[in-house]
Amino acid sequence: MTRVWKKSDWRAKPRVQMPDYPDSAALEAVEARLSKYPPLVFAGESRKLRAELAKAARGEAFLLQGGDCAESFAEFSADAIRETFKVMLQMAVVLTYGAKVPVVKVGRMAGQFAKPRSAPTEAKGGVELPSYRGDIINELEFTSEARIPNPEKMLQAYTQAAASLNLLRAFSTGGFADIHRVHSWTTGFAEADKAERYRELSNRISDALSFMSAAGLNSDRIATMSTVDFYTSHEALLLEYEEALTRVDSTTGQTIAGSGHMLWIGDRTRQPDGAHVEFCRGVINPIGLKCGPSMTTEDLKVLMAKLNPENEAGRLTLISRFGAGKVGEHLPRLIETVREEGANVVWVCDPMHGNTIKSATGYKTRPFDRVLGEVREFFAVHREQGTVPGGVHFEMTGQDVTECTGGVREVTEEDLSDRYHTACDPRLNASQSLELAFLVAEELSN
Ligand code: PEP
Ligand code: MN
Repeated sequence: MTRVWKKSDWRAKPRVQMPDYPDSAALEAVEARLSKYPPLVFAGESRKLRAELAKAARGEAFLLQGGDCAESFAEFSADAIRETFKVMLQMAVVLTYGAKVPVVKVGRMAGQFAKPRSAPTEAKGGVELPSYRGDIINELEFTSEARIPNPEKMLQAYTQAAASLNLLRAFSTGGFADIHRVHSWTTGFAEADKAERYRELSNRISDALSFMSAAGLNSDRIATMSTVDFYTSHEALLLEYEEALTRVDSTTGQTIAGSGHMLWIGDRTRQPDGAHVEFCRGVINPIGLKCGPSMTTEDLKVLMAKLNPENEAGRLTLISRFGAGKVGEHLPRLIETVREEGANVVWVCDPMHGNTIKSATGYKTRPFDRVLGEVREFFAVHREQGTVPGGVHFEMTGQDVTECTGGVREVTEEDLSDRYHTACDPRLNASQSLELAFLVAEELSN
């Protein structure tokens, strides 16, 4: 069946959370340039990710999706990418051991630049300015000049995404990802003070790896032990950028968003008749849909029908983000709807976005225990319902930042000012991310 859909159809639909560019000629010039640039990802890769997500829907794989809330131009460095990639691999080893299934690794990377905001303006010291919307749109600096949306920034975002992907592709195949090496980094964490509770699981993984080596199953004999598949994802928010990078796959004639392997629709832009759903429904990439407390069962039905009309497994991932203490109230009604519709979905938990608070010291933060709490509630509901918890979605970084409180290497509210670098929401640091992977692995092996 040919789909009657064009990549520009979203333009006729109501749009929210997108900038009004003051100079439309400049915008068109950027779109024209971007549409000639090579796509960042290819259809075959997205199809492979979809097949892996189909396994996650059935409990034969587990999704680990993570990275910055907002990638930034100023914080961009090879070291930062390497550190986040490294922690994700460590988490994946621990989760593989807990889940006893392969872990599908998807970064919030190489394209996660545009941000929806809770208010169109923000005020500081009596001055009110348009909100910061991510480095692909405007600048964080609190001046009226910096907050003007500038389409040229899309070109810098593209360049940074291309360079990030190039590095990630090299790390995935160049020996960096060898499972023995990755696990040796983890043993350092588990041997540190106060991490006793993680030592046993870490030692069990060491034993399993030693056994495999002794049995002749070395990394050089088994490609999947020395290389990994690593995918990219971001919120498909800035539709001019998305449309300009959309391509037709030469082998199948299918349309793919060339900006990242997986795209998701945010909790603020998922109006069933809105521009974002209209764009995403026509591209073949796996699509994530954020589901917050305001997601109605009616909307979910319409969205599933629009985004996955052929009910293909791996096409649609529902990323729930209700907040600790609220999962029991909302997740069962969504599960019921999915069941009634007979829909194939991957159930994923984002325990970040429902758990943001303001610290007494004035920083936006997330307490580690509330993040963990939401993950545990998510697993408990799926256990009760007999459905499959297919993955987790974290805002995290490999850097040693102090943005979320808690964890074994405890970050206190007073510590938040030390290394608070995020351009948007607070991220788990390397130690907190790995600790959470150990705790999720415990849930998975329950
Ligand atoms: C995000 O993932 O950074 C985000 C804004 O999430 P949500 O749409 O769920 O609020
Ligand atoms: Mn965020």
